[in-house]
Amino acid sequence: MKKVSILGATGSVGVNTLDVIERHPELFSVIALTANENIDLLYEQCIKFRPKLAVVVNTTLADKFIAKFNGEQYKPELASGKDALKLAASYDEIDCVMAAIVGAAGLPATLEAAQAGKNILLANKEALVMSGDLLMKIAKQNNSQLLPIDSEHNAVFQCLPIGNDRCEIEKIILTASGGPFLTKSLAEFEEITPEQACVHPNWEMGKKISVDSATMMNKGLELIEACKLFDVNVKDVEIVIHPQSIVHSLVAYPDGSVLAHMAYPDMRVPIAHALAWPQRINSGVDVLNLTEIGALEFSKPDYHRFPCLQLAYDAMAAQQSATTVLNAANEVAVNSFLNEKIRFTDISSVIDATLQDIEHVVVDELDVVLEKDQQARSYAQSFIRDSLVRH
Ligand code: NDP
Ligand code: MG
Repeated sequence: MKKVSILGATGSVGVNTLDVIERHPELFSVIALTANENIDLLYEQCIKFRPKLAVVVNTTLADKFIAKFNGEQYKPELASGKDALKLAASYDEIDCVMAAIVGAAGLPATLEAAQAGKNILLANKEALVMSGDLLMKIAKQNNSQLLPIDSEHNAVFQCLPIGNDRCEIEKIILTASGGPFLTKSLAEFEEITPEQACVHPNWEMGKKISVDSATMMNKGLELIEACKLFDVNVKDVEIVIHPQSIVHSLVAYPDGSVLAHMAYPDMRVPIAHALAWPQRINSGVDVLNLTEIGALEFSKPDYHRFPCLQLAYDAMAAQQSATTVLNAANEVAVNSFLNEKIRFTDISSVIDATLQDIEHVVVDELDVVLEKDQQARSYAQSFIRDSLVRH
C-alpha cells in the first residue's frame, strides 16, 4: 500500500489524482488532503477516502469545515493555515506527496516534502520555476524522488534512458498545443476575455494554467521546469507546436532515434504513471486509437504572437532569481487579467517591466527566493496600478 498525501486535493489535478486512486483501493491509501477554500468538496473527499489529516488553508473556514462532520463516526484530524501544508507534506507515514497546489503558494510545502525525503509527484511547476536549483538540491540530499506530473515532463521522463544516464541525449522536444489563440487574428488579441482564455481546446484545467496556456507562458514555465528537472541547458530543449496534444513530448538521441510518449490528453495518464511508478496501472483512460486520430501536425512557435514565451527564454538566460521574478510577475498579471483589471495583451508587458526593474541575484536559500518573489509582486502590482488599470 502506498500512503499518499494530496496538496491541492480540490483542484483539477487533485480531483484527477483521487479518480485514479479510487480505481485501486488495494494499492493506495489517502493519508492527508488539503484545500484552500473549497470545503464542500474537501468534505466529500474526506467522507469517501477517510484521510487521517485534512488541511483547510483559509483559517476562517476551518470551523465551518469541521462542523460538517457533526454526527459522523469518522472525523479527520484538522489543521489550518499555511504552515499546516507542511504537516501534510511531511506526515510520518506518508510515502508520496502529490504537489498540486497552484502557484508560489505550493513552494514551501513542496520543499518540506523534499526535506522529509518523500517521493514527490510534482504538478506544481511554479515551485521549480521559482526555486528549481534549491528544490533539486534538497531533493537529492534527502533522497526524495521527483516524479513529474506535468504531461510533457512525465512524457520526457518516460522516454529517457532508465538509470539516469543522460550523456547520450541529443535534445528534449517539448510539445505545445498553442492554446485557444493559435490562429486567432492578432488584431483581436486586445479584446480577449478571461472566459475565452480559460477554454482550452484539449485540456480541462484550473484557471491560472489555462491562461498560461493561452499566452504560452505555460510553455515558458515548462522550458524552465525541464531544464531544472532534467539538468539540461536551454539550447538542448526545443519547443514544437502540436495542436492535437497527442504526442506529449519527445527525447532525441544521437543515432537519429526520437522517442515519443503518446496518449489521449487526460491528466490521469501521467498521474497514474507517477503514482504506480515503477509499475503500471489502469488510469481509466483508453489506449490511443491511432486510426481514429488521423493526422498529427507539428510547427515552430511564433514568438511575436506569444511574447511570454520569449520572456521565459530571457529569464533563463539570467540568474535563477530572474525565473523567480518571471513567475511572480506572471501570477500577479494573470490574476489581474482574470479580475478584468488588465487586458490579455498587458500580461507580457507586466512581466517584461518587472523583469527589467528587478536586480537578479544568486539564489541559494528559500529566504532569497521569497524576498525576490515579494519584490516582483510589489513591482508588478504598482506597474499595473500606475500604468495599466482599466477604469
Ligand atoms: P486548480 O486551480 O484547479 O487547483 C488548485 C489547488 O490549489 C486547489 O486545491 C486550491 O484549493 C489550492 N490552492 C489555491 N491557492 C492556494 C493557496 N494559496 N494555498 C493553498 N492551496 C491553494 O489548479 P490545477 O489543478 O489546474 O493546477 C495545479 C498545479 O498543477 C499548477 O501548478 C499547474 O500548473 C499544474 N498543472 C496542472 C495541470 C492540469 O491539467 N490542471 C497540468 C499540468 C500541470 P481550493 O480549490 O480549495 O481553493
Ligand atoms: Mg504541461
